[in-house]
Amino acid sequence: MSLGIQRVSDGVTGEYAPAPADHPFLRPAGKGLAGIDLLGDVERREQAAMIHAGDLLSVHSWELVTAVDGPGTRMTTFLSGCPLACLYCHNPDTMDMRRGNLVPTTELCKRILRYKRIFKRTGGGITISGGEPLMQPRGLAKLLAFAKENGIHTAIDTSGFLGWRCTDDMLKNLDLVLLDIKSGMQETYRKTTKAELAPTLDFAKRLGDEGVPVWARFVLVPGLTDAPENIEEVARIASTIPSLERVEVLPFHQMGRDKWDSLGLPYALEDTQPPTAAEAEAARAIFRARGLETY
Ligand code: SF4
Repeated sequence: MSLGIQRVSDGVTGEYAPAPADHPFLRPAGKGLAGIDLLGDVERREQAAMIHAGDLLSVHSWELVTAVDGPGTRMTTFLSGCPLACLYCHNPDTMDMRRGNLVPTTELCKRILRYKRIFKRTGGGITISGGEPLMQPRGLAKLLAFAKENGIHTAIDTSGFLGWRCTDDMLKNLDLVLLDIKSGMQETYRKTTKAELAPTLDFAKRLGDEGVPVWARFVLVPGLTDAPENIEEVARIASTIPSLERVEVLPFHQMGRDKWDSLGLPYALEDTQPPTAAEAEAARAIFRARGLETY
């Protein structure tokens, strides 16, 4: 999810280097990971099949962060591809899976292991974000299973829109879900994301029923999501999740504007100002009034 959290990276970030040209997942040799559009139909179909099987992932980037995306120091990996089209998306370049770098799932697993000691020392782990991580459910399932086998805390950051793709096994391998509730009112949800709210509600219920810890996230956008009745409805939804641990209210800001421009995409929030500190606190108060731990 590209929610516009003011992130302070631990200074370790990156794109994935292309896999070795002779890697069995990549054909024809030497085309490079970003060269998917240069491939012929046969190769493209093969790569799509590998993504489908979870052996290859389309990845935007990754970074080590502390105090966001879950407890401790996290290796947050942003997968490419998203079924929503949020007006406030701060990384619109993650929306299209074809823009990502193709990375063998085993490569990601190796990198996860590299930070195992840091995770242990800080109580951290991995967070798979996006885009929408459930766009690539089999690869995601492999990453979660691998992390759990190695005693590493796992989280995903999701809108829940594709929650039906999250299998029961994946749920068992999840220590935390960062659930982005983009609006409580259907009409506002549709205006904000161009999609329906119902799948998020279904997934929230399932997470609650299964006792998967949830941190709910809500982006406060003046003139879009900030109507008190909308915030009230998000708070009501959050309060129905028995496994909810906290709510994070994220004030909208304009740091993503340039990306929309550089992609040549129309940016609907050009004139929208960030909420004031008082407005953000007033929104948080609506959640706290329901007894929810809110940041
Ligand atoms: S759900 Fe998709 S479109 Fe919305 S903010 Fe996240 S990445 Fe962007």
